[in-house]
Amino acid sequence: MAEVREKMAWSLQEYRDIISKYKPIICDYPDTAGRDSFCIIRHDVEFSVSRAFDLMKIDSECGIRASFFFQVMNGAYNPLSVANRALIRQIAEAGHHVGLHLYVSHIEPGDVATLRRELAFQRDILAAILGRAVDRFSYHRPPRWVLALEEPVLDDIINAYAPEYFELTDGAPPAEILYMADSQHNWKYGHPLDDSKYRKFQILLHADEWTGDGAEARDNFHELIERNRAEFVEIIRSECNHYDRIMAN
Ligand SMILES: [Zn+2]
Repeated sequence: MAEVREKMAWSLQEYRDIISKYKPIICDYPDTAGRDSFCIIRHDVEFSVSRAFDLMKIDSECGIRASFFFQVMNGAYNPLSVANRALIRQIAEAGHHVGLHLYVSHIEPGDVATLRRELAFQRDILAAILGRAVDRFSYHRPPRWVLALEEPVLDDIINAYAPEYFELTDGAPPAEILYMADSQHNWKYGHPLDDSKYRKFQILLHADEWTGDGAEARDNFHELIERNRAEFVEIIRSECNHYDRIMAN
């Protein structure tokens, strides 16, 4: 069994197995209130909108609705490009939730006023791209001080790291809600397919980590780079009639 698990690691089949396991208790952030058990499926999108779109199709096939969080200050993709904007809108139109993946690395520790301004600023950009209101956000690489804030950053937006969905434990086991994340190709807080005594979960799955057959970290980086490169070449080709002729020589 362990060998099979090892073989399937990071494959889309393993991804489906995770979704299937939690499907009976998967629900959206606001719907967790008062439940004895729940599982929130969250996708932070760091490098590839097209990979997020692929994962969305699997979520839809599995009959679940997930939350996809997009960055607007990311050097890897432009959410306002014609292609990406269409994909992001289709994710929302398919019934999934689209939120902001809030970039905060440039904010001085403790500067809550700037944090509030940034959240409103980045949220409004994503809302303009989407053509609808954005009701949720998750932090990208959150420093501890933002996770420890006792007041909501803004009242009218769901924070994926709010205490109802996430326990700040500084490494200790959580009391009730188990947070599992595949960040950096590593299930640091436990693997979703392992047995668990918990009944409340938030699972962060980055589309950037998952490939058809399941690539290890190094091959996965190569695949991400190659996909990005191929998409970039297509952009040049579509803008430059002479591309094929020049590059053939
Ligand atoms: Zn992130």
